[in-house]
Amino acid sequence: MRRRINLLAKEATLRPSLDILIPKPASSLKRDIRTVLIDQWNDRWFMSTNGRQTYEYIPLVGLKLITQIPQVVHFLTNRGCFQFYFFRFGLSDTQNCSCGVIGTADHYILQCPLNSDLSRKLVYDTDNPSTLIESQSNQLIIKEIVDRVDSIIHKI
Ligand SMILES: [Zn+2]
Repeated sequence: MRRRINLLAKEATLRPSLDILIPKPASSLKRDIRTVLIDQWNDRWFMSTNGRQTYEYIPLVGLKLITQIPQVVHFLTNRGCFQFYFFRFGLSDTQNCSCGVIGTADHYILQCPLNSDLSRKLVYDTDNPSTLIESQSNQLIIKEIVDRVDSIIHKI
């Protein structure tokens, strides 16, 4: 019996190609499907006209959790306690920040002179905005600025 097995094994090594189908393991198939879906998601994300504020900071989507801080989500989506957002929905007579510039999330976090004491602490590559939210320390600074803006706007 052992000799027969050895003969069959030797004969198999002489064949130029496989003549049986070896299915992929389920884990490999799951990984392949996940990769295809994430690629399709990124293609749609790239082509979309929606969510461009978010796209500026998250150009590639995936399954990795980027933040658990709601104020950072407000910044990333430009939806939060910002004058521009309130004005857009008729909840404010002005879209301007106290400094006179349109009060978008980008303005409050990156440009407003009233928040420069905090925003100057942000460390990132200005040519690559996605680097802004990569560090936890930046996310905490963004949280602090959004909390400040929220407290000021609610007093108005
Ligand atoms: Zn301002």
